Amino acid sequence: MNDLSFLNDLGAVVAADRAHVWHHLSQHKPYETTNPRVIVEGRGLRVWDATGREFLDAVSGGVWTVNVGYGRESIANAVRDQLVKLNFFAGAMGTVPGAVFAQMLIDKMPGMGRVYYSNSGSEANEKAYKMVRQISHRRHGGKKWKILYRERDYHGTTIATLASGGQPERAAQYGPFPDGFVTVPHCLEYRAQWSDADYGRRAADAIEEVILREGPDTVGAIVLEPITAGGGVIVPPEGYWPRVQEICRKYDILLHIDEVVCGLGRTGTWFGYQHYDIQPDIVTMAKGVASGYAAISCTVTTEAVFDMFKDDASDPLGYFRDISTFGGCTAGPAAAIENMRIIEEEGLLENVRLMGARLGDNLAALKEKHAMVGDVRGKGLFWGVELVQDRASRDPVPEGVARAVVAAALDRGVMIGVTNRSLPGFNNTLCLSPALIATADDIDTITDAIDGALTEVGAQAN
Ligand code: PMP
Repeated sequence: MNDLSFLNDLGAVVAADRAHVWHHLSQHKPYETTNPRVIVEGRGLRVWDATGREFLDAVSGGVWTVNVGYGRESIANAVRDQLVKLNFFAGAMGTVPGAVFAQMLIDKMPGMGRVYYSNSGSEANEKAYKMVRQISHRRHGGKKWKILYRERDYHGTTIATLASGGQPERAAQYGPFPDGFVTVPHCLEYRAQWSDADYGRRAADAIEEVILREGPDTVGAIVLEPITAGGGVIVPPEGYWPRVQEICRKYDILLHIDEVVCGLGRTGTWFGYQHYDIQPDIVTMAKGVASGYAAISCTVTTEAVFDMFKDDASDPLGYFRDISTFGGCTAGPAAAIENMRIIEEEGLLENVRLMGARLGDNLAALKEKHAMVGDVRGKGLFWGVELVQDRASRDPVPEGVARAVVAAALDRGVMIGVTNRSLPGFNNTLCLSPALIATADDIDTITDAIDGALTEVGAQAN
C-alpha cells in the first residue's frame, strides 16, 4: 500500500511535482533551481499556492475556464451524487445527465439541434472536422474537403487542430500535418492589412478571395473563433460577421464557430456568436461548459447537419462512425447542468455585461495614462491590452516586457495572462478573463495591479 501521508506535507508535494510532473507549455530548466508553483485551494476568484500566498485569478484557472469561480459545493455535490448513481456508460446508449444537459444547451442555442460529447476543446474540433470530411464524401463526392481557418486563431493541440491553427509556431517541429487546411487573413483592425473604411467587410471579403483561389467546390467549412482568444483577444470589426455568413451561404460552406473560450457566458451572452445575429452550422465548446469541475466538451450541430448522417440507414458507412470513450462519463454533463443553473440563477450574464463595462472603462483609463498601452479591446469579461514600444509605429514591445508586466502583476497578487508565445513579434497582449462572478472591487483590484505593473516595468524600460 502506498504511503499517502505526504499529501499533508506540502513541501513533499511540491518536491514530488518538481521531480515528476511534466507541466503544460513549460520549459522545465528553471525548475532545476526553483520550485514550480503548486496551487492548493480556490474560493470564488481567489487561489492559494503551496506557500500560502493568495492571488486574485484574473484568468480563470490560467486558461479562461473557471467561469463560475472556485469552491462551488453544489457542482461538487451534483457530480458526486451522479457518480454514485451511474459514473459511466458509453457507446450507443445514453445517460440521464447527457440527455438533460443536451436539452438545456439546445434551449440556449436557437437553430441548433444535436450535441455530441467528448472531453476537450481539441477533441470537439476534431469531431467537427471529421463531420465535415464525411459530409464531403456523402454529399460532394469527397471534393468539398478543405477547411478554412484564420490567422491568429487557435483550435487545439492535436495534429489536425494544429494543422488548422493560425499560430504557426505552435505547430513548429510537430509536422508533417494532414492536408486540406487553408488559412485566411486575421481581422485585427489595429494591425490593419487594408486601408478600407469598412474594415469588417473588407476582412471578410478576404475569405471569399481565398475560397475563389482554392475553388468553392473544394471548400467544405470554415472554423472561426467568435472573438480570437489566445491570438490577441481580437473582436471582429462591425460588418464582419454578416458578410462571413453571406459568403458561407453563397458557396455552401459550413460555418463552424469555436466557442471553447467564449461559450457559457464569457462575453455576456451564452455564446460569443450570439452578439452577431448569425446562424452557425457547427458550434464547439469546452472550458466553461463545466467551469473545470469536470472534463467535458460538446460539438453541437444543426438538425440539417445531423440529418446527413442518418438519411441512408442501409449504407454501412452512412452514420458518424466516431466515439469518445469518456464522452460517456457522467461527471461532465452533471457538472455542466449545475454550472448552467448557477449562471442563470445568479444572473451572471448580466453581471458580465456590467462588470465587463467597468473593466473596459478602467482599461481605457490605463491607456490614457500609460504610453505603452497601444490598444485595449474586448467584450464582457474578456479583454486584451496590447503593449507597444511607441504608439505611432505600433511596434510591439519585446516579449520580455509583456512577461515582466505579468510578473509584476503577480507580485501585486493578481494573475493575468499574455498572448501565446507562439506569436513571435506579437506576444505583447495582456489577457484578462476573470470569473463571471467578479465584483466591482475585484475589477478595480485587477486594474490597479496592472496600473502598478505598467508603471514599474515602464520605469525600468526608460
Ligand atoms: N479552441 C480554443 C479557442 C481554445 O482557446 C482552446 C484552448 N485554449 C482549444 C480550442 C483547445 O481546447 P483544449 O485545450 O481543451 O483541447
